[in-house]
Amino acid sequence: MPTSKEYMERTEKVVLHTYNRFPVVFEKGEGVYLQDAEGKRYLDFGAGIAVFALGYGNQAYNDALKGQIDKLIHTSNLYYNIPLAEAGEKLIKASGMSKAFFTNSGTEAIEGALKAARKYAYNRDGRTDHEIIAMNHSFHGRSIGALSVTGNPHYQEAFRPLMGGVKFADYNDLDSVKAQITEHTCAIILETVQGEGGIYPADPAFLKGVKQLCEAQDILLILDEIQCGMGRTGSYFAWQQYGVEPDIMTCAKALGCGVPVGAFVLNEKTAEASLVPGDHGTTYGGNPLACAAVSKVFDLYEQEKIVEHVRSLTPYLEEKLDALVEKYDFLTKRRGMGFMQGLVVSGRPVGEIVKRALDNGLVVLSAGSDVIRLVPPLVITRENIDEMAEKLEASF
Ligand SMILES: *Cc1c(COP(=O)(O)O)cnc(C)c1O
Repeated sequence: MPTSKEYMERTEKVVLHTYNRFPVVFEKGEGVYLQDAEGKRYLDFGAGIAVFALGYGNQAYNDALKGQIDKLIHTSNLYYNIPLAEAGEKLIKASGMSKAFFTNSGTEAIEGALKAARKYAYNRDGRTDHEIIAMNHSFHGRSIGALSVTGNPHYQEAFRPLMGGVKFADYNDLDSVKAQITEHTCAIILETVQGEGGIYPADPAFLKGVKQLCEAQDILLILDEIQCGMGRTGSYFAWQQYGVEPDIMTCAKALGCGVPVGAFVLNEKTAEASLVPGDHGTTYGGNPLACAAVSKVFDLYEQEKIVEHVRSLTPYLEEKLDALVEKYDFLTKRRGMGFMQGLVVSGRPVGEIVKRALDNGLVVLSAGSDVIRLVPPLVITRENIDEMAEKLEASF
């Protein structure tokens, strides 16, 4: 058996070095635990970056995928397929929105959302100089379009010129959004809970204020639910707790629980007057395998009462994390919603804590420059939370 070290060396020889990976080779997973190639077990509070909501090795999920593989994996969008109808219905039911377009990633969902917004505005006034307002410290993906609305100059710099017509405002600062609105503004895009930027939930007054600005001028509100959606915050989508409906929503990550799939979802007004045949497409998007995953994910969320579970266990997770903040001076704050939590670290490199946690058999992530990010599978138990707190403390 080759060792982990050999796999790492082989990988680095052939795979472009765009990630400084932790020196771990994961081989399999079971429930909320991962196992590396040497057989060491890790409690996983990262879930493959907020993806594997159901935990690893869910037999019903695995069987659904295996069954679909034996039937049909791909057909293209020139034809209908059965899982597409099922996945679409379930996504529309969970969101209460009108129409979905399936993509292969979160980034592509953002691209589609941006195009739908521009097309909507174009249909209205025939102009081609529309602007989009995005937030500082946001993250929406790495393609040129998604990068253009990602408020992180460090990610953007080398790739300029980016898509034009993008302006940035400060998250949770309504006046700064107002200041960027012009007669050309066609959309405002933001994460309902900022993820990569450091786990910042939207202030209710901010989100409501943005929605009012949008309604007043027929500006579309695009909410990026790629990380905070699919039950993570204690409702299918985080905006459902704010009483603020987006015109366009993006989702991905936990949508397929490991199968690469995303979607952008439009409300009726936007669906009726934006993208039409010829405007947008994808070879793989909405393929039977990915949609079988999405469809089964929604079934299992209902059967296992995943969203209710998140809601009922959140106070315990928050209590445990608050106790750590209380106990350690270098932890200055907890921020988050549901199973999307961040601990703000001051005066110590977060990367080192994350690395030491890994040594101690605990997977956690970082966010921003100073936040320990916890985005566990949504099936964790109280015992898992206790074990996480113990292992995290041991890593301080
Ligand atoms: C991960 C993420 C994306 C990008 O999704 P990919 O699947 O990596 O392309 C976009 N927006 C948010 C909020 C994300 O967390």
